[in-house]
Amino acid sequence: MKVLTDKIIKTEVMLCPCCMETHEVQTVEYMDKTVYNGVELGTDTISCYCSLADTYFEVDEIISRNYRVLVETYQKLMENKNEAGN
Ligand SMILES: [Zn+2]
Repeated sequence: MKVLTDKIIKTEVMLCPCCMETHEVQTVEYMDKTVYNGVELGTDTISCYCSLADTYFEVDEIISRNYRVLVETYQKLMENKNEAGN
């Protein structure tokens, strides 16, 4: 149920790669749960949203941004665990 927590961070008129029409495409941010290295992480994930097709999609730039946030979140979690163990 992404819609409830979506935060619109950008609205841009562009040729939508999802439906191939030119229209306003929203960039939204929401909390997502992803399993990385066997650990479940809650990360703030960014997606584009096509209102015509009612579909979320990601472009290359966003995929690499989301991956970077995921890895950073994982590393922070591991650091915290190590500190707690010492
Ligand atoms: Zn579209």
